Amino acid sequence: MSTLLNTPQNWQQHLAKAFTDITELCQFLNLDPKDLPVSQQAEQKFSLRVPRNYANRIKKNDPKDPLLLQVLPVTHELLTDTHYTSDPVGDINALAAPGIIHKYQGRALLINTGSCAINCRYCFRKEFPYADQHLRRDAQSSALDYLQQQPTISEVILSGGDPLILNDDRLHHLFAALKKITHIKRIRIHSRIPIVLPERITPELISLLNQTDKKIIIVLHCNHPNEIDNTVKAVTKQFIQNEYTVLNQSVLLKNINDSVETLQQLSETLFDAQIQPYYLHLLDKVTGTQHFNVQKEDAIRLVNTLRNTLPGYLVPQLVQEQAGKPAKTVINLQSTRQFE
Ligand code: SF4
Repeated sequence: MSTLLNTPQNWQQHLAKAFTDITELCQFLNLDPKDLPVSQQAEQKFSLRVPRNYANRIKKNDPKDPLLLQVLPVTHELLTDTHYTSDPVGDINALAAPGIIHKYQGRALLINTGSCAINCRYCFRKEFPYADQHLRRDAQSSALDYLQQQPTISEVILSGGDPLILNDDRLHHLFAALKKITHIKRIRIHSRIPIVLPERITPELISLLNQTDKKIIIVLHCNHPNEIDNTVKAVTKQFIQNEYTVLNQSVLLKNINDSVETLQQLSETLFDAQIQPYYLHLLDKVTGTQHFNVQKEDAIRLVNTLRNTLPGYLVPQLVQEQAGKPAKTVINLQSTRQFE
């Protein structure tokens, strides 16, 4: 681990060195911003943040690199469309207490922070009012009281933002508090950090996670096979060695992973890295993300073709999150013809 990654105490320094400036990122990638549809206005609305480890996986001299397209602020984000809104999945209506979203039976989601190691341009929570609605340390007790009073909740999902951006001290206090709630059996961690900032997965973090008596499930967010390199494989190997369940959810994104070849390679690469493909989400229609949208019919054709080319356990479930529904909607794959 330490030979592949850097010393455990300095992941924050790696984070601090992330690219936050369009021109600097373009220079690093041998690209001229004048040749790209970059937008400072879009960047001001939702800032650029790209860790160097991730930037190293973007191909230089390639303005269409699928990793670059996920992080570069562009003019398309300024377009408006009434079908694209600030809260497409109904998070605000599902707030049960400050920092808690309770949509689905048996599970509750803790919004621990609004920060992430990377800022994904298609993020469905990019307009979420984190300042008012995340789980601040000084207000944690009301959220924990809510969980304590809901004996049907057996699983807590740590989300955000990215929960692994919290420092070890914050995580330690959170895990210690959750340990006292005996009806919680599982802690699920939704995180893109093992993919974009693997330096964060330190021995100290693993030891902290291992102090819980709950089952740990890590749900990664990886959209393209090029996002997985040896540093990512090293951290997922540690998760497996510590008996965490490791799943992946992807978002289907136009010009990024909307081809059979890319999705097939993504599933194969995930599995090689001991990560189980789990969900393939249709885009959540948040403001300014129209250029990422793949039509549902096209998504169905893609997944139907994947089913013909991969074993069933490598085909992620095609799903859509819809406001007010009691569960994610699994898309019916029978409703269109397969690709020729
Ligand atoms: S890591 Fe997740 S929460 Fe953070 S910007 Fe990307 S999609 Fe949004």
